Amino acid sequence: MSFLRRWLGLSRRAQHGAEAKAAAGDIRASPDFSKKRQALETLARAFGYDAGKVTLSPQTKTFDYLGQNFRSEGQSFPDGNIEIYYDPQMSEARLGCCLAHELQHVRYFTVRDAYRAEQPDGPLHRRFAKYQPEALAAQRGVSNYSNEHWDAWKGDAPPKLFSFELEQGESEPINETVAEVAKALYNWGPDVRINPLWKELHDAINEEYVALQQ
Ligand SMILES: [Zn+2]
Repeated sequence: MSFLRRWLGLSRRAQHGAEAKAAAGDIRASPDFSKKRQALETLARAFGYDAGKVTLSPQTKTFDYLGQNFRSEGQSFPDGNIEIYYDPQMSEARLGCCLAHELQHVRYFTVRDAYRAEQPDGPLHRRFAKYQPEALAAQRGVSNYSNEHWDAWKGDAPPKLFSFELEQGESEPINETVAEVAKALYNWGPDVRINPLWKELHDAINEEYVALQQ
């Protein structure tokens, strides 16, 4: 849920409306699209996620940022649906990274909802109390992409965990950094060297997500 989407590769392919629509039908019919759609389904199941909520879209989503047009790789929605935007260049490994990143947003949204629904002295507030805005801002991100979000933050004060970052600061440094931890763990495995505070926060969110599913 961010205008600052994946810009790995910095592809700046401009697509025009009518042309894109005609192309979408052709793309859907292509063997590569079917192959990637199946790979995505298999990946979703491997992540233990409802494959019916993960869609491969033939659309090209682009967004403008700092005068440049970037291509989006995926988007997650607060209702748990995830869209991955088809790119013939996208390898299965990158598809997995992209899904890992988007799925982490879904978990973040779930825990954020529960956190915001409870009293200020509730168990989630207590568990996440140590992740104060200043502590997180001092760490910044864990990847170029997440650091772009820290750079783009326009709020008066550092972003707060489980706040509506996008509305408050026009970027989502915390939400995106946690998603990038998930991507790194998927890509490089559990022994990847990653900022310990962010890794700990990522793990805490996922534990609470699992608990909320019970
Ligand atoms: Zn993201």
